[in-house]
Amino acid sequence: MFLAGCSPLPNIWGNSLPPAPTVEGYVIPWTPPATNTATITPTFTPLPTKTLTPTLPPTLTPRATFTATVVPTPAKKDIARALIISFDGLRPDAIELAPMPNLMELMKTSAYSPLNTRTIDYPATSPSHASMLSGLCIEDHGVIYNKFFMYMGYSKGVDIFDLAHEAGIRTVMIVSKDKLRQLAEPETTDYYEVAYGEPAIERAVIPQIEEDFGLMFIHFAGGDTRGHKYGWMSGEYMKVLRQGDEVLGHILQSLKDNDLFDTTFILITADHGGHDRNHIGTLIEDYRIPWIAHGPGVVPQELTLSMYTMDTAATVAYALGLPLQDDWDGIPVYQAFGEPQTKIHEKSPCKY
Ligand SMILES: [Zn+2]
Repeated sequence: MFLAGCSPLPNIWGNSLPPAPTVEGYVIPWTPPATNTATITPTFTPLPTKTLTPTLPPTLTPRATFTATVVPTPAKKDIARALIISFDGLRPDAIELAPMPNLMELMKTSAYSPLNTRTIDYPATSPSHASMLSGLCIEDHGVIYNKFFMYMGYSKGVDIFDLAHEAGIRTVMIVSKDKLRQLAEPETTDYYEVAYGEPAIERAVIPQIEEDFGLMFIHFAGGDTRGHKYGWMSGEYMKVLRQGDEVLGHILQSLKDNDLFDTTFILITADHGGHDRNHIGTLIEDYRIPWIAHGPGVVPQELTLSMYTMDTAATVAYALGLPLQDDWDGIPVYQAFGEPQTKIHEKSPCKY
């Protein structure tokens, strides 16, 4: 123990340390604070380990094995048969007015001529139909009268029935006027029937579709008959067109039911138009005819080229792959198949 004197103990810690505390008369044992040599180890609070949850793209459902149902576009080569339908006296502008809904529906997928197809210059039933099926003008097929007397003989030249028969395909002709027998020789029509009235036509046609055919010609007489009696574009004329259209609907349905529709080339046309109660006048309404083509390879479109009724035989021959005849006045409507129209009518091919 040291007695506290007047003089303080030397300050061995220097001025940086506080003096030893004293109490009067005593020196309080005191341990100077240790020199702080502590190494400060900073305490880092580690950042929480972030568990990264990557944002993955949504799990993609693997593609199902895609088996495309390839419906091949039917090509012209798929044409197995041809059906020509003539609505006697049908004016193209009557189709919508009648209306003829089945024909209008078919036109949506057809190549059709709105107002630019005409018949020959003698727009009578027998001569016009002869041009339609023979590809020839009146002076060449020789059907110069609108009546048939046996001594006149049949339509001359090579007509579409001659070609089809020669090719060995089954030919059918169902007409509503017996004078149309003149259009093709009996030996070239495997089945021929005269059926009067729209319902009778249906009864005659359906079994022939069921039996299948290579070439069929169907003739509806109603428009012409009512036109002569009541006037073209009259209510009665329109009414019989609707009846014919209904039968057309059943014919198309029968083709579908018998699995023939997709391989059938269909051409719907007329022999002439008409006005008032007549169709052999000078008005364009007498000469204009509808021309509507439907079937494999046909490109739906409005045809703008100038066409004639003789083109029907030529186009049907082309569609069926039958040989085109050099002396034909008709030209195939290649454009209907989306092909270049390499040959056109520069002017009327007929003298009459
Ligand atoms: Zn006629």
